[in-house]
Amino acid sequence: MVSVEIITVGDELLIGQVVDTNSAWIGQQLGRIGAQIDRIVSVHDQADEIRGAVDSALGRADVVIMTGGLGPTKDDITKKTLADYLGSPLERDPEVYEHVRRMTAERGIDFNELNQAQALVPRGCTVLPNRVGTAPGMMFVRPGRTDTQPRLLFSLPGVPFEMKTLVTEHVIPQLRQHFALRSVVHRTMITFGMAESAMALAIAPWEDALPDWLHLAYLPNARGIRLRLSAYDVDVTTANREIDRQFDLLRHHIAPYMLGYEPASVESAVAALLQERHQTLAVAESCTGGSISARITAMAGASDYYLGGVTSYSNAAKAKLLGVRAADIEQYGAVSEPVARQMAAGALERFGADYGVATTGIAGPGGGTPEKPVGTVWIAIAWRDTDNTVCTAARLMHFSELREQNIERAATHALNMLRLHLLGLSDAFQQTGML
Ligand code: ATP
Ligand code: MG
Repeated sequence: MVSVEIITVGDELLIGQVVDTNSAWIGQQLGRIGAQIDRIVSVHDQADEIRGAVDSALGRADVVIMTGGLGPTKDDITKKTLADYLGSPLERDPEVYEHVRRMTAERGIDFNELNQAQALVPRGCTVLPNRVGTAPGMMFVRPGRTDTQPRLLFSLPGVPFEMKTLVTEHVIPQLRQHFALRSVVHRTMITFGMAESAMALAIAPWEDALPDWLHLAYLPNARGIRLRLSAYDVDVTTANREIDRQFDLLRHHIAPYMLGYEPASVESAVAALLQERHQTLAVAESCTGGSISARITAMAGASDYYLGGVTSYSNAAKAKLLGVRAADIEQYGAVSEPVARQMAAGALERFGADYGVATTGIAGPGGGTPEKPVGTVWIAIAWRDTDNTVCTAARLMHFSELREQNIERAATHALNMLRLHLLGLSDAFQQTGML
């Protein structure tokens, strides 16, 4: 098994100003080709910190990948530190020099001494040409555990798109060339609408009967629970076939909750159903503030089925733009069943859509009352019956104190309510009481 450690360099990562997405991305990519990430560390732009991290990583891993600190400014010291650590003086690489000269000319930037310094690399390193930036990637081949298997040390720029280009074009091919990588198959089923513990109980018989070479992981978040099946060091075709079969069996236990394989989502499931039926959707959002619309329009092809939405935050907007009865708002409150139903029906009618979806709730942190605490949300859907009368259904949800999460969960549940209706599953679903 090829063991990889990642070192990200930069003060900004340690003060939380920049989130270390580089490691996550490298982890995903290398995981896919059968390398194993064993450790991820972030260190300051300080020579002793960088040296210490590299030295200990090289003492364990087959491959060490560093990102960051290759820029021309004084705060970026990775290259100099590596040169000192490896005892290799910095020398000008003529090809990098020419590349940086051309790139600065194209961008109309001065080819000054700082830019020229980008062409300096430690003697003996393999330059990994950076097509999309000025800082070259570098690879150092070090003695490994055996004569035939070296250790590789990579140093890449911190800027994510440059790092990604270099990993794809150079690091992965180098790993394939130097190591025998194991096969890996991951497949993830997205589910929504079931609590993790309820899910674990519901699928226990299925989980217990999985072959021992298939590994199951539960990955919950506000948009559902992802169930990942992984297989290592097995024939890829066999593994894919068995994973298909197992997820098919899973249907017997939790069919209404299964949305599809990653990157499926509730919105992509709704989109597919509406497209298939050539039907349309309009939304009316209060507490979700447009996030349902945003999630739908983030998907290409939304214009096929999405007519539009109203963010009716005030009572007046609910009445004026959606035709919600002012008297009902007065009597029941804006967060109430009749208002949610009228919002969904209003969206359907005003946009001339086949379906309406609505949310109205108290996202928090303020605005709660004893009867309607923060996290109280009504969601509703509207559709036309065969005789063309508008019908609605509404559900009361109780979420948490956290505004961001309440918005995300309200939007997801509202879309899921429509999905279940489209599948004719609303009754079965309500009976389970999982929501
Ligand atoms: P450049 O040649 O462009 O200066 P560099 O190798 O010096 O590249 P850094 O200065 O360390 O890169 O980082 C540049 C920017 O890249 C940072 O401001 C940050 O926005 C982003 N970045 C750096 N490291 C990471 C990381 N681990 N994850 C996500 N973004 C990062
Ligand atoms: Mg930096």
